[in-house]
Amino acid sequence: MDKVTTYRGSHRSISFEIKRFDDYRGNKKWTFYLYLKELQFSKEVFKKLWLKPRWYTFGGKKTIVYDYCKCDIINAIDFHGGCTWYSKEAGYDKESKCVKVGCDYSHLYDDIYIYSENILEFDAKRAIDSLYIAVPDIKKWCWHCGDYGIEGYVEPRNDGNYICSQCWEKVDKKNE
Ligand SMILES: [Zn+2]
Repeated sequence: MDKVTTYRGSHRSISFEIKRFDDYRGNKKWTFYLYLKELQFSKEVFKKLWLKPRWYTFGGKKTIVYDYCKCDIINAIDFHGGCTWYSKEAGYDKESKCVKVGCDYSHLYDDIYIYSENILEFDAKRAIDSLYIAVPDIKKWCWHCGDYGIEGYVEPRNDGNYICSQCWEKVDKKNE
């Protein structure tokens, strides 16, 4: 059997996921992904991220592909060797949408390096920073009330999670 280990975190209110794949021979493969939620982006920006499907037939089976290489926002994200993963993670039954984009560390030259979750965490955070350069007005999520917004959001614990000013006031008063 193969083993998959998942690490999860958040940076500047964007969730990321790191995966390590250990195959039965002991080979390791690494990937990381960013979760881009519809509620965190303007309508115009998310429209660009929600790609149109393209169908093609491979081995008698119909397969869906997304031309994520043509999306200027995904291209602006500093992925290791470029984006190699795009999937739609939510948006069924009129639920708000979410796109998962990511990259892998299975390139030819990757064999020489020894990766770790700390290296991938650093890279995932750097990828999020590059996304913020392309799209500066990403809405933060308040872990207290669940609202999304830009103004007045603070990161009290430096752990990638934010709280809105109204909730921060309440939490602050409770602590007095
Ligand atoms: Zn709040």
